[in-house]
Amino acid sequence: MEDTGKEPVALVTGSSSGFGMLICVELALRGFNVVAGIRRLEAAGMLMEAAEQAGVRERIDAVRLDVTRDTDVEQMAEHIRSRHGCLDVLVNNAGTAYGGFIEEVPAEVWLAQMNTNFHGMVRVTQAVLPLMRGQGKGRIIQMSSISGRIGFPGFGPYASSKFAVEGFSECLALEARPFGIDVVLVEPGAYGTPIWEKGFTQMSTRKGSPYESMLDKVLAFSRKSASQGGDPKEVARQVAHIACMKRPAFRYALPRSTRLTIRAKGAVPGRL
Ligand code: NAD
Repeated sequence: MEDTGKEPVALVTGSSSGFGMLICVELALRGFNVVAGIRRLEAAGMLMEAAEQAGVRERIDAVRLDVTRDTDVEQMAEHIRSRHGCLDVLVNNAGTAYGGFIEEVPAEVWLAQMNTNFHGMVRVTQAVLPLMRGQGKGRIIQMSSISGRIGFPGFGPYASSKFAVEGFSECLALEARPFGIDVVLVEPGAYGTPIWEKGFTQMSTRKGSPYESMLDKVLAFSRKSASQGGDPKEVARQVAHIACMKRPAFRYALPRSTRLTIRAKGAVPGRL
């Protein structure tokens, strides 16, 4: 980002674990004051410990932020305005993953998945855009996924939410650019974070489901991805690097070879 002599400020959503927690620490190490959005503040312990160990505890300002709650989002934006007065970087990272076959996923699960992964991003973006527009600068980094570009069996609701993130980000980039705000999509492949434990590796089907035989392949793929995926720190470092770049590209697939590797190895259970 442009050097104005002021300490830069970043907001990271979903900061209690995984990429979000590591991104907070990496940004703090690069001199950012970090507003760490956390769904339930009681869960801030791991982040604070990681920040303490890295010697950047004083740079982390944890705020309660459930991205599905309008009041949390409004209060977070007000907190940034009154406490920090500016926002240089937003990392829209919060997300959940639900595994299930499209025919069998209940409506409330589709809605919940879209509400967190997609509408959560919309809410937070809308809340901070006026501040960034007023500054005439800012950067919004969107945590998409390889699942925002490629469909996998059993990943329907998750992939749909991430494809929505991609469309949203392309439009946002064009609308925000005239105000000095740039938008960057980050598309990680598989990394071993808690999201896999709660999501795809726990997938099941109904008894006697026609998808039973497909389930084993999907579970094997998910368990392998969760255990053999890359080191989440790689993603955190890359995101922090993108936050500091002068002119980042619009899209980063991480690692760059992920998509090619998956295609070449035919590792996915069923390809178009
Ligand atoms: P994670 O489960 O450790 O992190 C997700 C974070 O989002 C958690 O801190 C969780 O509390 C938070 N969260 C969930 N619902 C929320 C809500 N309503 N409001 C606020 N926060 C909420 O897993 P992760 O892998 O670090 O996931 C971070 C992002 O990375 C997600 O958007 C995920 O889709 C994306 N991603 C992960 C992988 C991977 O392989 N781990 C790959 C591609 C993309």
